[in-house]
Amino acid sequence: MTADLASRITRVQDALAQAGVDGLIVTPGSDLRYLTGYDAKPLERLTALVLPCDGDPALVVPALEVAEAQRSPAALAGMEIVTHQETDDAYAVAVARLSDAVRVAVDDHMWAQRVVTLQTRYADVMWTVAGRLLTDLRMRKGPDEVASLRHAGAAIDRVHRRMGEFLKVGRTEREAAAAIADAIVAEGHETADFVIVGSGPNGASPHHGVSDRVLESGDTVVVDIGGSTQEGYCSDCTRTYAVGAEPAGEVTEYYEVLREAQRTQCDYARPGVTAASVDRVGRTVISDAGFGDYFVHRTGHGIGLETHEEPYIVEGNDLVLETGMAFSIEPGIYLPGRHGARIEDIVVTTDDGLDRLNTTTRALTVLEG
Ligand code: ZN
Ligand code: ZN
Ligand code: ZN
Repeated sequence: MTADLASRITRVQDALAQAGVDGLIVTPGSDLRYLTGYDAKPLERLTALVLPCDGDPALVVPALEVAEAQRSPAALAGMEIVTHQETDDAYAVAVARLSDAVRVAVDDHMWAQRVVTLQTRYADVMWTVAGRLLTDLRMRKGPDEVASLRHAGAAIDRVHRRMGEFLKVGRTEREAAAAIADAIVAEGHETADFVIVGSGPNGASPHHGVSDRVLESGDTVVVDIGGSTQEGYCSDCTRTYAVGAEPAGEVTEYYEVLREAQRTQCDYARPGVTAASVDRVGRTVISDAGFGDYFVHRTGHGIGLETHEEPYIVEGNDLVLETGMAFSIEPGIYLPGRHGARIEDIVVTTDDGLDRLNTTTRALTVLEG
């Protein structure tokens, strides 16, 4: 098994042992991909990594998917594959790998139907969710993961650099978003995961998707986009533009405040400070300028094999940042019914500060339209 997967398995087993958990069952999703490299489809037939706290892991797969599983990095590196036929009892095949287990954890995203089946059929086992057993590992990125995130960040930056091609006066948000989604793939992602084009008043709704609103000259447009690369790592970057003409004076005014807040947060965040304090230093800049009521969401979220994962950069999260944590810094100011702005970079903490993985200009760029 490649060095990274082997060490991930070992670290999970250590965490299980420390928590007094005898085994772990992980169904398709980002946890499975993290531990095995296997990008398995979430289908009705059971696919699962079954990992005893001591002993060898096995990849339990339906017989008809064995060829796929054998091509996974974990199998290529020697992880055992256990197959079940159409008429076999797949749960029994999986649980048999955890003989004598008293406490067993399942991945946080396992389907409720599977969890309830396990609980009902194996009522003597104490079933729990993996929770921190996996998130504590996944939020500390290895150098290979940082390289993958950097690669994703560069790809989404190339899309932002082309924004003048997509945002045109007279086009709808939906039309612009379709062209942007194509560019996300063309510039190096396997999938376009989301495209937010919030023009004019729609920019004041942070999770606006797209609509049939037609872009007008002088509109501010919040563009928040991301995709996943072939390795499975995600990009997520927001820039705010004006199309056709300079935006209203007050937009320019609060945009400078926003930029100062985001810069302050990026200068401040480093190992040793809490996630909550990163939120606070930006919120203070915005509040001091009188826009505190208009910064209505947390500062950011971790990112990796999922767009939103730990650590969350939010008031109340006393997690102390460490080297190798990847997350977004994305303050926003939103004036309901009028317009809004957000600046978002993905950053990775280094020993003495952080690296920004998005590097396009953070100025409010006026596009020709
Ligand atoms: Zn979001
Ligand atoms: Zn975003
Ligand atoms: Zn984000």
